[in-house]
Amino acid sequence: MTGENWPAIYERTLDCVHCGLCLQTCPTYRETGRENSSPRGRIYLLRAVAESRASLGDVVSEEAYLCLGCRACETACPSGVKFGSMIELARAEIDRSGLRSGWAFRLERWALRGLIANPRRLSFAISLLRAVQVLHLDRLVARLLPKAWRELCALAPRVPPAVERRPLPAFTPALGEKRGRVALFVGCVMPELFGAINAATVRVLSRNGFEVVVPESQGCCGALHAHTGDLDFARELARRNLTAFSATDFDAVIVNSAGCGAVLRELEEWLEGEGDSLAVRVRDVSEFLDAAGLRPPAGRVESTVCYDDPCHLVHGQRVDAAPRRLLEQIPGIELRAHDDPAGCCGAAGIYNLTHRAMSRAVLDRKMQSLSAADPDYVATGNPGCLMQLRGGAAAAGLRAEVVHPIELLDRAYAARSVEP
Ligand code: SF4
Ligand code: SF4
Repeated sequence: MTGENWPAIYERTLDCVHCGLCLQTCPTYRETGRENSSPRGRIYLLRAVAESRASLGDVVSEEAYLCLGCRACETACPSGVKFGSMIELARAEIDRSGLRSGWAFRLERWALRGLIANPRRLSFAISLLRAVQVLHLDRLVARLLPKAWRELCALAPRVPPAVERRPLPAFTPALGEKRGRVALFVGCVMPELFGAINAATVRVLSRNGFEVVVPESQGCCGALHAHTGDLDFARELARRNLTAFSATDFDAVIVNSAGCGAVLRELEEWLEGEGDSLAVRVRDVSEFLDAAGLRPPAGRVESTVCYDDPCHLVHGQRVDAAPRRLLEQIPGIELRAHDDPAGCCGAAGIYNLTHRAMSRAVLDRKMQSLSAADPDYVATGNPGCLMQLRGGAAAAGLRAEVVHPIELLDRAYAARSVEP
């Protein structure tokens, strides 16, 4: 098979020894029971295409995009198959071959390139959405739409007020004895929809003795673009961030969004010879604070908490113990286990928009697990998971508030006692 990515795809498929240990960890295999919808099946299909024994047709394309890119198979794999990057390279080839076309594809590409990656337009669009929500026009519009569109509209997150969407200060001093200096990666949707989490991250870092710098020229990490096959555009975005974080006087570049962190840590894979300078300095905020040693919060948060692993933190960055250890250090918190903490929630970037049925099925499994545990809070460190779990919790009637772990730490530092 010709195409610039096929040698790298083929090389990755050769690592698979067909043992099948990944099958039961794969959400699409668990839902369908089909070999083609499993990691091993997808590897088999891609290898057949790479060896020109099969064509890059609809079956391969559908299976490549039905994959959630959760990378649970990587954690399970004893052979070290790099499944995440293999599927992204394959999607880039599917894109180039013209197998994806039509209005839905064009809309997706426009939204990711022209909106998500453009802070001004994104901010304008989110402000419009806020106005629509405040005037309750969203409910009116939703009533006029067909059922499938109504479901999509219901996924739109509540936009916070302008006060929570203000840019962070370019510099925040350390509180108490200074322990270091870090740069914060703020992301694209985080400042617009989860500005309070970014602000809490700065406060918690500062309370732990770290100066926080927020480089102004940073931008979208390109994760959504890479996951959907737009690798060339993702590389452009990555180069912008290489420049934005080129200063060397930081101890680390802190990320509080698991999807962004995973991509930034693997920049060397995409930008050979260039990406390493940033990649080696990227740390998830939980991992960084855990390694530095958390200054114990004095305030209490009297509650039960289920921690839910974002796929791109547990499987993409292999960080699972650090967030749990931080939560355990908050006085009053009882960390409660649930059955499926490392299973995907079905958000997967824009997967919950493009593959509604599978996303819902995967989310249902997660909700059953969380409902049985019945915590006061569900804590997870990724914006897509936060939105998906909030939607799932509301639909399933869970009483739990879905938060980022850093918000619970921030509340503990700020208050003597917080009731759920
Ligand atoms: S990335 Fe997730 S959905 Fe895709 S094959 Fe691996 S386990 Fe299955
Ligand atoms: S666990 Fe790894 S080696 Fe085994 S079938 Fe899955 S991808 Fe292949």
